[in-house]
Amino acid sequence: MTGENKPRRVLLKLSGEAFGGGKVGIDTHVVRRIAEEIVPAVQQGVQVAIVTGGGNFFRGAELQQAGIDRSRGDYMGMLGTVMNCLALQDFLEQEGQATRVQTAITMGQVAEPYIPLKAIRHLEKGRVVIFGAGAGMPYFSTDTVSIQRSLEIHCDEVLMGKNGVDGVYTADPRKHADAKRFATLDYNRALVDNLAVMDASALSMARDNKQCIRVFGLEGEGNVTSALLGDKIGTLVSD
Ligand code: UDP
Repeated sequence: MTGENKPRRVLLKLSGEAFGGGKVGIDTHVVRRIAEEIVPAVQQGVQVAIVTGGGNFFRGAELQQAGIDRSRGDYMGMLGTVMNCLALQDFLEQEGQATRVQTAITMGQVAEPYIPLKAIRHLEKGRVVIFGAGAGMPYFSTDTVSIQRSLEIHCDEVLMGKNGVDGVYTADPRKHADAKRFATLDYNRALVDNLAVMDASALSMARDNKQCIRVFGLEGEGNVTSALLGDKIGTLVSD
């Protein structure tokens, strides 16, 4: 909990890589484990909103390289994020956790449209809200959407779950054995040194609006619950 009676509200960003386990499609074991780790935090009163990436299906920029119109490829990427929403929704519901999916591209049979006030209401009722289809606009990324949604629905923190790394390092720890992990980091250093937090437009939106971000590793057991509960794991990016 934060403040006196104000529950903690967070925005968890799960990239496509988290859903695919590094492959195309969905690794159901990984998604089930993440769902199982979200539920205990909600039960302890944390309000959890989630933005899903879609890189495990398509990225518009990659499709463009293969000859597909960029905007159309971006829409394909956005549709991929919705499949990830539905997979996560299913595993959460199997755990008895109420959920709602809201998408930036209207698709009434599978999800509600994105309505921020309604999303807040769901969170207040203890439902996990999963945002899909990015911003509904080509040339955007789900990282940017994470910051925007977090700002709009007043989250305390954006939690960037990463695969293969447990925070932000001075260099890629998979290639440089002497790389050091930052406990805290300011936006400008992250931007200027191009450190692996999120893409630059997302990071500058966070900086301009003072949205703090915690980067943490998804893989360690209990890490997702820990991050949701507000444990100081990984790297905090702030002013
Ligand atoms: N995308 C988009 N607009 C958005 C969000 C996503 O066009 O607002 C497209 C874009 O092609 C992107 C793809 O959807 O590459 C998947 O999203 P992203 O790359 O952000 O997913 P992640 O890297 O987190 O898996």
